[in-house]
Amino acid sequence: MKVSDLVAEGVAAGPEPWVNPLRDPRDKRLPRVAGPCVLVLFGVTGDLAKRKLLPAIYDLANRGLLPPGFSLVGFARRDWEDQDFAQLTHDAVKEHARTPFREEVWKQLREGMVFVPGEFNDDGAFDALAMALAEIDETRGTGGNYAFYLSVPPKFFPLVVQQLKRTKLADAPEGSWRRVVIEKPFGHDLESARELNAITNAVFPESSVFRIDHYLGKETVQNILALRFANTMWEPLWNRQFVDHVQITMAEDIGIGGRAGYYDGIGAARDVIQNHLLQLLALVAMEDPVSFDAESLRREKEKVLRAVKLPDDLELGTARGQYVAGWQGGVKVKGYKEEDAIPADSRTDTYAAMKLEVANRRWAGVPFYLRAGKRLGRRVTEVALIFQRAPHLPFSETQTEILGQNALVIRVQPDEGVTVRFGSKVPGTAMEVRDVLMDFAYGESFIESSPEAYERLLLDVLIGDPPLFPHQREVELSWEILDPIERHWAEHGAPEDYPAGSWGPPSADELMARDGRAWRRL
Ligand code: NAP
Repeated sequence: MKVSDLVAEGVAAGPEPWVNPLRDPRDKRLPRVAGPCVLVLFGVTGDLAKRKLLPAIYDLANRGLLPPGFSLVGFARRDWEDQDFAQLTHDAVKEHARTPFREEVWKQLREGMVFVPGEFNDDGAFDALAMALAEIDETRGTGGNYAFYLSVPPKFFPLVVQQLKRTKLADAPEGSWRRVVIEKPFGHDLESARELNAITNAVFPESSVFRIDHYLGKETVQNILALRFANTMWEPLWNRQFVDHVQITMAEDIGIGGRAGYYDGIGAARDVIQNHLLQLLALVAMEDPVSFDAESLRREKEKVLRAVKLPDDLELGTARGQYVAGWQGGVKVKGYKEEDAIPADSRTDTYAAMKLEVANRRWAGVPFYLRAGKRLGRRVTEVALIFQRAPHLPFSETQTEILGQNALVIRVQPDEGVTVRFGSKVPGTAMEVRDVLMDFAYGESFIESSPEAYERLLLDVLIGDPPLFPHQREVELSWEILDPIERHWAEHGAPEDYPAGSWGPPSADELMARDGRAWRRL
């Protein structure tokens, strides 16, 4: 039965872009709207809360996806009253929400907003939180269902989790649920990821832990699954027989802004390759899952991560860089070491590249090149499958001398879409073949705007729907890939300089050139 038929029958509610698209609309076990609950936001005065989380909560409320009694508790160390928290939320919503501001929606949301001041090491503050939650249950009928969102610096994860244990807030009474949401980074290496997990799992069962990799909430990332598994024409080509190599790029044009404290000592590879880029790799390389439920999807991604092979020579098969002063968009920008609060001898990588292989029957011998960096030429995230050249070209050399390789490019952000590059005859009397592009752009094909990733993920947390959240096994497998590279880098000197506004250090280009290839020019 088609989804459109289900819609016609009233079984499914029609296209609702903010609902997890991996969910079978016939599956009635999970509701489409959150039930009575409280979201407790630790770190509510932080950057993530203001830019993403609070606006996403409002947008969900505006779309009617939160129940009338929904309550939002902010926890931070300022000596604030409820109205200060409401003011912060109001400003964040006005500035960043994607749906229009409606007074009646705001009023309803505002009625359920409570602020609890305190430090994470303050037992009294957590006792006050427990009391506030009990009162909210009484007055707003939230039924003891709490989601605890840790939007806080990672070093505080263990402390907050311990406080939730001490106050018994992690223990769900019969008929209610308790969930914890953790933001990346999930540790800074395998050992710390395991430690963090042990601490979390000692308090919350794995099924109650939601790890946010917001890339998985992105429309275009989920479209990788649609592109691959809803069509017939790509999958026969999606293997070592036809694919020459794969390039996965996450380029940012910004520097580290005010996030020196977080970024220094972490670097590009830990910040985005361990999570976003390896998740993209897993989605691109995996076999089709039996279904899109959490377990099937995660199992296929895990198989890929387990099959990843590092280059034999880590010096030649990886590259790392750090930006120095340069020009970006006509503006002179400073180098990494001149950024506020960055030590002059910092060895943090602001650019990282690596050549990986997925050692299985489908992909053996096909390099997956990953690169990520700050202060690069422009902001773009994409996955590009570059196909092998035709085994025989019945043209003269001059007729095809500017013909490149066929490519399929999935643009994750911005200008979300898919581009196919192939050879075409140049109009005229001569047979000259060169590359042309065939383009699908979300903005042109759909009138629905893509929901913000955090909207979808927050709703999934409140509903209890886990496919879009990586499992701890995936986290550990990703660290197993990255740890040897980080160790190698730590033992082999400083990252190479690259000017802000360029495309990374020379060693990254050399990595490709040794294989007779080049990074895509973006
Ligand atoms: P942030 O701006 O540094 O905010 C941290 C929050 O934690 C603030 O509300 C801060 O309160 C609070 N806090 C810090 N120490 C505290 C303490 N001892 N007791 C009580 N509250 C304390 O961090 P962020 O950028 O929002 O990031 C939050 C989390 O999301 C981190 O795990 C980060 O890695 C992750 N993340 C962030 C982004 C992003 O774009 N920002 C993206 C991906 C992941 P004060 O206002 O009182 O300092």
